[in-house]
Parts: sequence; structure tokens; C-alpha cells
Amino acid sequence: MIIVCPSCSGRFYYDENRFQGSTSKRLGCPSCSHEFDILSPHQPSPIVPSRLNPLIHNRYVLLTISGMQMDPFVIQQAVITIGRSEGEITTHDPQCSRRHAQISLEQDGSVWLEDLGSTNGTFIKSRAIKEKCSLENNSEFTCGHTRFQLMIHPIARSGKAI
Ligand SMILES: [Zn+2]
Repeated sequence: MIIVCPSCSGRFYYDENRFQGSTSKRLGCPSCSHEFDILSPHQPSPIVPSRLNPLIHNRYVLLTISGMQMDPFVIQQAVITIGRSEGEITTHDPQCSRRHAQISLEQDGSVWLEDLGSTNGTFIKSRAIKEKCSLENNSEFTCGHTRFQLMIHPIARSGKAI
């Protein structure tokens, strides 16, 4: 799995087998040595305790893994739009519609993907989505020629902001 450092945005590869059954691991970034927690890709989305803002509990990052490359995008609001030329994430991908898809974050920490009636569709595992679909940690989806991966990092409980 591809890991993105929440401090320097450096990307590196982490062998999923190293989780060895545990749900999360603490890593040191090889570039900047920042320490952070990552979740096993075999874990369902982490549950956020009630009355806790999911954006304080977890860090949600969208990576582009193929197609138009962009810097990792950190989700900082409950609803974001992906589009060719509009929205919080603009792909500049000719295969994307002007407003293509929407990602929403629920109070329980779950993440949902919805197509906004795009011309070429939004795909999860090569299937065009027809309605709101839940995204898990490490879920991939495609808008036009741009393939995204969602990463969910629990924020360290030390109380210090990242
Ligand atoms: Zn780093």
C-alpha cells in the first residue's frame, strides 16, 4: 500500500503483511522522520466516537494514483467536489466533467462517494456507481482518467495537532 506522510506529504510503499493482524502501526517517515499511525487496509473504516468531529479524530487524504498527478489532498470539510474545473479538487482532466463527483464525510467518520451526473461516470472497481457508495480506507475510485485512493490515518491521541 502507498503511504503518505501527513507532515511532508512524502510518499512511500509499506508492505501490508507487516501489519501481522494488528489494526494499526506507528511509522516513522523515511524523509522527515515524523511519526504517525496508519491503519491496516483490511480494517473497515474507523468508527468515530459520537460527538467527536471525524476531522479531529482521523485524517482523510486523497491521493492520485494514476492519471493526472496532484499533490495529496487533505479533506478538511464535510463535503468536497471533484471536477475538471470546479470544486475543491480540480483535475484538469479532459475526461472529467466540470463538476464530476462529490465526497461527503458523515458524523460517524464514514466517507461517501457520489457521481454528480458526470458524462463519463465515476467508477469503483471498474463499475460505474449509480448511487452513493461508501469508501473504506484504501478504497480506489476513478473519475475520467484520474484514479484516486482514499487514505484514513487515525490522528495520534497525544493531543498535539498534526
Ligand atoms: Zn515526512
